[in-house]
Amino acid sequence: MDSNYNEIIENAYNFTKPIKDKGKLATYIPELANVNPSNFGVHMTKVDGTSFGIGDHLEKFSIQSISKVLSLALAVKFLGEDIWTRIDVEPSGTKFDSLLLLETYNGIPRNPFVNSGAIVICDILISHLENARQEFLEFVRDLSGIPDLNYSDKIADSEKATGFRNVALCNFIKSLGNIKNDPAVVLDFYFDMCSLEMNCQQLSHTFSFLANGGCKLKDGKEIITSSQAKRINALMLTCGFYDESGEFAFKVGLPGKSGVGGGIVALYPNNFTIAVWSPKLNANGNSYKGMKLLETVTTHSEMSIF
Ligand code: GLN
Repeated sequence: MDSNYNEIIENAYNFTKPIKDKGKLATYIPELANVNPSNFGVHMTKVDGTSFGIGDHLEKFSIQSISKVLSLALAVKFLGEDIWTRIDVEPSGTKFDSLLLLETYNGIPRNPFVNSGAIVICDILISHLENARQEFLEFVRDLSGIPDLNYSDKIADSEKATGFRNVALCNFIKSLGNIKNDPAVVLDFYFDMCSLEMNCQQLSHTFSFLANGGCKLKDGKEIITSSQAKRINALMLTCGFYDESGEFAFKVGLPGKSGVGGGIVALYPNNFTIAVWSPKLNANGNSYKGMKLLETVTTHSEMSIF
């Protein structure tokens, strides 16, 4: 790796670390609160294969909604364009778990990265794959190169016991005709998917296919076409941070995706993928320090996709 990048990341980490964290842990999934709130790590993987990390970048955390990009990639890989009749590609301008726009748009979620959209993607995968839960896991194992990567039963069970808004979302969409399978089965897969655990290094490796024209870095294997990768990146830029997607594009300027576990993955096509983790979230459900760190990295590197 360009030593310049190591320095930029190290400086951004050291600059951001002492900043007062105004965020709060996500407690609506009780198990997510059992984490050290001061954890903070970052890892960058360049498309030339070199990588650099600092802080708690090797400690695993719950990737939560970051997994929605991977389930979308699997759906696009197997089902192509058909999925866009069931989900739109517009920013929602609402919170990640909002029910608001489903009534207006007749059960068609605004995009695949809000909870409602990801729940419909789970329904689509269940309809088209023999064992969606297992095949999704194998897909992510292949992408990440981690053969024993797994769902966390602890996290999934915790959300299964408390995820009433998601139950409401899934049933509401079912009532509007856009969920084809049993809502309980769809939700079960959705909660499992959100429970995947990875560290920053693994996340930045896993997402590198999206910075590399849809092909895995390690062996060049095509996961999705370059045009499909471009579209997923476009969706991450416009919808990856819920009602803060505009702010993320404005301040960081990269496609990315956050999760309520405090992780964020962002990428610069043909250049790098970067994953950051700091568990305390701002009011929009995005990592407070994670966003600050990424803003510092892109400001200091002076590289912009714009
Ligand atoms: N599993 C979480 C939920 O459905 C994911 C939300 C998120 O990471 N934004 O509420």
